[in-house]
Formats: sequence, C-alpha cells, structure tokens
Amino acid sequence: MVDLKGQYKDIKEHVDSSIMNVIETTAFINGPDVHEFQKELEEYLGVKHVIPCANGTDALQIAMMALDLKPGDEVITADFTFAATVEVIALLRLTPVLVDVDPINFNIDIDAIKRAITPKTKAIVPVHLFGLVANMDEIMDIAKEHNLYVIEDNAQAIGADYTSKDGTKKKAGTIGHVASTSFFPSKNLGCYGDGGAIFTNDDALAHTIRGIVNHGMYVRYHHDVVGVNSRLDSIQAAVLRAKLPYLDTYNAARRNAARKYSLAFAEIENIITPTGFCDNTQSICDVCDCHVFHQYTLKVVGVDRDALVNHLTEKEIPCGVYYPIPLHLQKAYKDERYNEADFTVTNQLVKEVISLPMHTELDDEQIDFITKTVIDFIEK
Ligand SMILES: *Cc1c(COP(=O)(O)O)cnc(C)c1O
Repeated sequence: MVDLKGQYKDIKEHVDSSIMNVIETTAFINGPDVHEFQKELEEYLGVKHVIPCANGTDALQIAMMALDLKPGDEVITADFTFAATVEVIALLRLTPVLVDVDPINFNIDIDAIKRAITPKTKAIVPVHLFGLVANMDEIMDIAKEHNLYVIEDNAQAIGADYTSKDGTKKKAGTIGHVASTSFFPSKNLGCYGDGGAIFTNDDALAHTIRGIVNHGMYVRYHHDVVGVNSRLDSIQAAVLRAKLPYLDTYNAARRNAARKYSLAFAEIENIITPTGFCDNTQSICDVCDCHVFHQYTLKVVGVDRDALVNHLTEKEIPCGVYYPIPLHLQKAYKDERYNEADFTVTNQLVKEVISLPMHTELDDEQIDFITKTVIDFIEK
C-alpha cells in the first residue's frame, strides 16, 4: 500500500545525517530537533502552537484532556473512521456519540451532527477522512451556535487546504479549537516510528497542553494537573525535519496518482471514484491542496467487493478496506441508544469501499497494472 523504501532513497543522505547527529549529540529526549521541528511545522501550517507528542492517539486524548470536559459529556464523532477517535473519548469517560457520514465524501454528515446535539453535547470531533477536510464552515457554525469545542482529527490530512465560504484558505488542523495529527510511518508526513502532535491557536490551551504532555508539570516537580508522559523523540523529530520540506511535493505526487486512477476508471459504471473536492466535482482540483489522498478509496457498486479484494491479492496488488465494520457495531462501542436507521450510509460504505495503493512513489506502469486488473475483474 505504501513504498517507504522508495521514498527514503531520495532523502537518505539528509535523513541519515540528521539521525546520526542526534546519536552523536545524545540529545535523545527533547533535543533541539524537537523544538526546531515544532517551529517549522507551526510556520508551515500557519498555526500559533504545535505541541509534539508520542503518537496520534495520544494527541487526540491530550487535546480532549486539556478542554474542560467532564465524565458524561457527549462528544459527537463519525461512525466511519479509525477506532482511535472514539477510543480516547471513551477512555476519558466522556460519552461518544457516533453519527453517520456523507455518502459522497465520507466525512461526518452535517445534518446528523445537528440531530445528535443534546444539552449534554460538549464537543464535535470531525475526522478529515482519507485526506479530505470535513465541512468545517458548517461544523464551526454549529459549534458556535451550541457553544461546543471542535477537535479536528487531522491524522489523515496534514498539508490539506480548506477554503472557507468567505474565501480564506487555511491548513487542515488549524480551523477548530484544537487538532491532533499522527506521524505514523504510512501517514502523509510519516516518521520512522511513532509520533504525533497537537495544534492550536489558543495560547492558554497550548500552555495547558504543554503541561499535560509532561506529567501535568508547569514548574519542575510541581504537578498541577494529572498529566501523561507523551513525547516525540528526537530521532523521530530529526526524520520529520528532513521530510517536512517535501510534504507539498509528496502530497502533489499523491494527487497526481489519484488523477491517473480516476481517469482510468472514469468510464466504468460500477466504480465511483473519490469526490468532494473544493469545487465538489469528481475532477481533482488543480488549484489547491484540498484533498491530499491519504487513501485513494473507490466505491464499487453491484460488484462483490470481497471477491475483488481476493482477486487483487492473488495478483499481488495490495489493497485495503478502510473500514470494514462501522464503529457503532463494534463490541466496545455499542450503545443501546443507537438506531440502525441512523447509520444507513456507513452500513452501506463498509460493503462498497476499497482503497488502492497510494503513496509518493507510484509510477504509470504500476497504476496501469492496478487499474487494468480492477477493470478486468469488474468487466469479466
Ligand atoms: C492514524 C490515525 C490515528 C492514530 O494515530 P497513531 O499515531 O497511530 O496513534 C487517529 N485517527 C485517525 C483518523 C488515524 O488515521
């Protein structure tokens, strides 16, 4: 699904010397690279504060710990996402409220959010799924009206642009009150192990978060709040510093590959290519980075999706089903208040989606082989 080796080849010298520098200076924990990476990422994103931490799940948890939420408060998030999002809500004894997603762009459904709001609702967690930013204009409007926090789960859309109704362009993860991201190796900006970060424009919140990641400590050995130990280690920060300058190029390479895939599938009736870009068409935007294709996900209609997965596997083409089971049906997150009729989109998507290889190193020959194999199967 990803080709990290191919990507490494081009940046090997830079990455190797950065890692060696950490080893030689033995600045393994909170070394200069961590601070420098923080500043470089703040600048890239146009956000006031980046707080690095150990992984994307911690980032979400810490963001939620920093807000004044208490057990039983309801947090609305999407039914169709990776489990980490709902997991941290539940871990903090907040009440997850899963809602359906949009059938076109896979992101949290705005009307479903509105229907799920109760007097206990305190926050919304939109997930910018597969690299496309959720409808943040609407989400921020709802949040304002109901006095809710917005926590963006930006693990899949780092570098993506979001253009608001008023024309202002912002980076994904800088629009809500706080955001989290992951530097897991296969993410759009991946390190060589685990890593994550929290973003916010709110000075007070940033201060709170910096204490929480460090055992709730604001003055050495004074523990004001219950915190955690969550650090981005210096070697990972050094890798990320070497890769950040290429993020836009990497995202452009993903978009290019997506464009080629979509062109090859354009005439195939049973295949619905990804859509929901800033102009809301099926074409891939040339103007901005509104979709950064963490995944290239098709919907196959009237096709045995699982048989297609098996067929691709036989031909040694990696593929993935993100996600095969709606979160509201997972044992850990079942809730008797959920009504199946409220999840018709997710229940359908889990049967139809298939993600094809997507990374920065895909070449025309590979894309040709992949698309031909998919089309052959569907047309046979
Ligand atoms: C990857 C991911 C996470 C978690 O990131 P880790 O670094 O693996 O903890 C959270 N949310 C979403 C949507 C993700 O894709």
